[in-house]
Amino acid sequence: MPELPEVETIARDLLASIVGARVASVWGSGLALRLGRPVDLAQIRDVAQSRRIVDVRRKAKYLLIEFEAGSRNHAPSSPGILIHLGMSGRLLVEPGDKPRPPHTHVVLSLADGREVRFRDPRRFGFVAAGAPIGERSELAALGPDPLTELDVAGLAARLVGVRAPIKAFLLDQTRVGGLGNIYVCEALHWAGIHPSAPAGSTRRRADALLAGIRTALELGIQNRGTTLRDYVDSFGTGGNNAAALRVYGREGQPCPACGAPIRRRVDSARSTFFCARCQRRR
Ligand SMILES: [Zn+2]
Repeated sequence: MPELPEVETIARDLLASIVGARVASVWGSGLALRLGRPVDLAQIRDVAQSRRIVDVRRKAKYLLIEFEAGSRNHAPSSPGILIHLGMSGRLLVEPGDKPRPPHTHVVLSLADGREVRFRDPRRFGFVAAGAPIGERSELAALGPDPLTELDVAGLAARLVGVRAPIKAFLLDQTRVGGLGNIYVCEALHWAGIHPSAPAGSTRRRADALLAGIRTALELGIQNRGTTLRDYVDSFGTGGNNAAALRVYGREGQPCPACGAPIRRRVDSARSTFFCARCQRRR
């Protein structure tokens, strides 16, 4: 499942490759994506067709493709398309004359002959338009982005009085936007915090926690994302971060910090990987 570093990698690549390009046409498969909802192609055409792409950026695990505003728009954020890759979504930039792969659901055909293709075999992804894009409710519901919007004091304030385990707190997108299971396990190991510690009890260590989160995410971005199964970048290439993971997927292997065997626990059907020596319960 693509997480923040994977989405950031795609956003940076798209920023370099498609900004300035004009969308000639929009195509859709007609099949529903997340929650069985159909994609509103008319709305996507309305913001994208015949318009130039002016920015590509990431907010939490969402990708935003922004378009020139046209005459009627003076809002601080431009009209745009919001994309979430869900479980298996891919966003590929390919020549228009290359056959579209199966499970392609939305295509932006660029005037220069290339296509931006959203492909999603499991159809948990999401593609929708907004004008301005920044006002979509999906974005408004998100907590601060851990790389760009969160500081130590802000994180500490959010932790006050929270009894839920720190791992659940970090996975809750309304508390902090953009973290998923892999990078939460990694961040807690970097910070030396036990995954089941009550979130409120880690408040005084918010500096170590934020540093751990950023280290885990930045390493992921540097390595162009973690590919365990499905994730590929916009060129169709996997990321290199799996080899750099310290605990995730490493049950029984020695902790890179202390050598004790990494443990795995399952809660709410998700695996938690941690080192019982480096991440002691206090
Ligand atoms: Zn250890």
